[in-house]
Amino acid sequence: FTTSARQVRGPSGERLGAALAYQEITDLLRALRVKDQFVSSVSHELRTPLTAVLGHLEMLCEDETLPDDVVQRLQVVRRNADRLRSLVSDVLLVARAGEVGLEMRRTDTDLVRVVRDAVEAARASAERAGLDLDVRTPDRLVVRVDEQRVRQVVDNLVSNSIKYTEPGGSVTVTLQLTAGAVELRVSDTGIGIAAEELGEVFNRFFRGDAALARHIPGTGLGLEITSSIVTAHGGSITVESEPGRGSTFTVTLPC
Ligand code: ADP
Repeated sequence: FTTSARQVRGPSGERLGAALAYQEITDLLRALRVKDQFVSSVSHELRTPLTAVLGHLEMLCEDETLPDDVVQRLQVVRRNADRLRSLVSDVLLVARAGEVGLEMRRTDTDLVRVVRDAVEAARASAERAGLDLDVRTPDRLVVRVDEQRVRQVVDNLVSNSIKYTEPGGSVTVTLQLTAGAVELRVSDTGIGIAAEELGEVFNRFFRGDAALARHIPGTGLGLEITSSIVTAHGGSITVESEPGRGSTFTVTLPC
């Protein structure tokens, strides 16, 4: 049930009483769950053929008997199929989280390795975008987390910073231990986020005006996923930004 209450007043403003409204929302909740189940099974079905397509594309891209121009075209197909795969898994994750909540597999994990691996995986795309990518971490920082999910957090934040920063700019990833917590910061010198949009960036499907005006592709799912993973670890995520100067996302995880 949801409830709401309000005062009832007469024509000259005198109080006549109060109205209480109860609304039964069981059907609505059931419909939402059915929708999440539907989205989650469709996304799951899409993943299997996509994995096969990507497997064959990877083999073809490495085939030295093929002419260079064919390989170049295959690489474009492969990059797009890869984007499709990551889109499908984002939709699947959001639907599963709505359906059964995020399941977590925590193990003792060296976050330094996770962060450094994610940064190295992003280096080629940072170079293609003409950006400096810098990483600062201690030697080792072992925390009990779901490694795959935390990797997704770092991947999402770093790829956003690369996507929303113009050539010549920089992206800096910092990992450090603060009082009883681990702090991950991803900073960029990019297009930034308007002050009135800062409260909305973690909402599903939200896309900022600056991103839309520049036709930068995106779905508005990444930060929602990032923030649900962080919350499921008992952590928090915040953002500071100035349009035209850059943004800093800070994730704090208890340890
Ligand atoms: P997507 O990037 O696919 O649009 P996200 O949920 O990751 O979805 O981000 C939501 C929105 O927040 C983006 O569309 C963009 O407007 C804004 N945003 C996220 N990260 C940055 C960033 N580093 N710099 C500027 N804007 C950002």
